[in-house]
Amino acid sequence: MKTDPHKAPQGESIGTTIVLTMVMAVTTVVMFSQGKMPQDPKELIALALTILFANTIFFLLIYTGRTDRYRAIYFSTFAVALVISFISHMFEVRGSMSLSEAKVFQCEVPFCHLVIPMTLVPVALTKTIIFPGSLIGGYASIASMFVIWIGATLAFGRGFCSWGCFYGGLDDGFSRVLKRPVIKNINPKWIYLPFAVLLFVVLTAAAYLSPVYCSWLCPFKAVTEFKAVTSTTVLIQTIIFVSLFIGLVIVLPILTKKRTQCAFFCPFGAMQSVTNKINAFDVRIDKEKCLKCKRCIQVCPTLSMNEESLEQGRTRITCMKCGKCIDNCPKGAIGYHIKGTDIPGKRNVYRLLFLFSAFLFLAIFSSHIIEDGIMRILKLITTGSMI
Ligand code: SF4
Ligand code: SF4
Repeated sequence: MKTDPHKAPQGESIGTTIVLTMVMAVTTVVMFSQGKMPQDPKELIALALTILFANTIFFLLIYTGRTDRYRAIYFSTFAVALVISFISHMFEVRGSMSLSEAKVFQCEVPFCHLVIPMTLVPVALTKTIIFPGSLIGGYASIASMFVIWIGATLAFGRGFCSWGCFYGGLDDGFSRVLKRPVIKNINPKWIYLPFAVLLFVVLTAAAYLSPVYCSWLCPFKAVTEFKAVTSTTVLIQTIIFVSLFIGLVIVLPILTKKRTQCAFFCPFGAMQSVTNKINAFDVRIDKEKCLKCKRCIQVCPTLSMNEESLEQGRTRITCMKCGKCIDNCPKGAIGYHIKGTDIPGKRNVYRLLFLFSAFLFLAIFSSHIIEDGIMRILKLITTGSMI
């Protein structure tokens, strides 16, 4: 395998990569198809393309050692597919992206993991589930989302934000538009803002038994669903979420090359940061190898590395385990690590364990959405409409 002379090679041999990809391929075929092959040719093509895409990305991720590059391609595709699939679905069932007040009150709105922090205190204090999530299909879908979240959190902590969140690929993708940042100096104290937002939304949700973040602050309403503008209050809410989407998810990621929504605003991300304390994996720096070039500090999209953390051989609590610092370290001094084991220890084994489990989680979590996104595009090509 060819390697960049300025970077330490971290990819696996072709033999190991093929074996791992075969295991991934079998697992994804079984999981994505759920044991049955679709009869509709378009559905069959969409399923085949989803499986092919997932396994090609996995192969490249393992073989080249470019974790962040290939993760980001898959992750951003997931986010774009969500937007395509979700909006098409909204038009299919409601005729538009807007919701009436009645639908909101009847909880006929889609479920989303960002609301999880706001549910916990009201459930504990009053046994009230306040979040907007479709209760039409019963509580099973909500319960299954909690189970998925708990499992992913125990395994990956804030890695959820780079390997699971169906919105994160949007600011991740926009942060890669320019080669160099226009805004270079960002005050590192901004990483504390999401914790303040988290505290605010948890307290207000508990006080008003209402998902305040969803109603007032969530930028992703701009690309999913929103309340029909029928009053001044809703107009203000709409202006806020559209402005936040344009600013935090598009413009600032392009100008700074940072994931500004995820790193400097998202309360769910703040909650996941806390869970970095208890999950199985972390990202560690081999101090013996480190040149102190600070390349990792410059490239981190969440400001999760600074001189102090470098000195300690670890990342800050906000690390999303995206792998960008790992890809960019000229000495190969940074790697995935299992807590409680030696550093550097069996670095390749830790890397493969992390990548296999994180990618499998991402692939399974995203499969239906990517497949539906492809289906909608095929429908558009063949019928002129996505619905
Ligand atoms: S860990 Fe790697 S990228 Fe970071 S300062 Fe050390 S040598 Fe440079
Ligand atoms: S410290 Fe490394 S792995 Fe963690 S968020 Fe920053 S670039 Fe990604």
